[in-house]
Amino acid sequence: MSENNYLYLMCNPDKWFGEGAEKNYQVNELLYNLDETSWGVSHLKNIFIGMQGIIKVSRDDRPLYFLDEYNLKKLESGIYATFEVVDFHPDKKDGSVTIKVIENLFREDRIIDKEKSKSILGNKFSSQSQGYINSDTFKLVYEALKEIPYKDVPKPIKGLIVEDSKEVYPRDIQEKENALKLANYQCEIDKEHTTFTARVNNKNYVEGHHLIPINQYDKFPYDIDVQANIISLCPTCHRQLHSGINTDVDKILNKLYDSRKERLMSVGLEITLDELQKIYYKELLE
Ligand SMILES: [Zn+2]
Ligand SMILES: [Zn+2]
Repeated sequence: MSENNYLYLMCNPDKWFGEGAEKNYQVNELLYNLDETSWGVSHLKNIFIGMQGIIKVSRDDRPLYFLDEYNLKKLESGIYATFEVVDFHPDKKDGSVTIKVIENLFREDRIIDKEKSKSILGNKFSSQSQGYINSDTFKLVYEALKEIPYKDVPKPIKGLIVEDSKEVYPRDIQEKENALKLANYQCEIDKEHTTFTARVNNKNYVEGHHLIPINQYDKFPYDIDVQANIISLCPTCHRQLHSGINTDVDKILNKLYDSRKERLMSVGLEITLDELQKIYYKELLE
């Protein structure tokens, strides 16, 4: 028997925020931008920080005239996101939990559809808005995801954030981690560049590098902190890209630009090799 160590949260598009119909038009947008949020989990007590889970959208009962009026797409039922618990307040009345999204499938346009969700979760949750799932079920979610290939989509810009009273570019560590995972923890210059086994994940150690450097954040209409712009590199290739001589940097850039230009386009980031080279000569080789 596997343990019920995972969380199940349901979003009911017509009553998600429970504050009356006027809030219902925000559900599509909120789900799309879902990153870190708090969620009421009144009757669940066995929650811990680091606990993972899934968010499922149930039937979208918002009336058609309403959807039309706000030009909203009817939400299909299915699994929309995976998350991790980052904070928990069992003392509060609604026992609210703070979750951080690991993969926002809705944003990536790859939700696990109704049929598949049903085959994974069974009927257990049809009338429950929250509960526990076991590790076998959670594994099935990940297996289902592997069958739906990752898709690049433009990510809206959030703007600069203030950290220690300084303005910094927002970075989502999860984007990097997902990018490294997608590259199978191999160096994208040469798969033979194996390093050592990393303590954090027992995988070949690689580093994430933003092909369009993060300090170019405000020069683009969409976020550059996205998987399409993050390259998995061995430490040597990475340091060379930052500190090597121009001819070597060019070789690496050429290769990476070639392999990524289409993906960059599909996330709304347009840049020529020439422009990219100029950034590297100016910004990184100091
Ligand atoms: Zn770098
Ligand atoms: Zn390498």
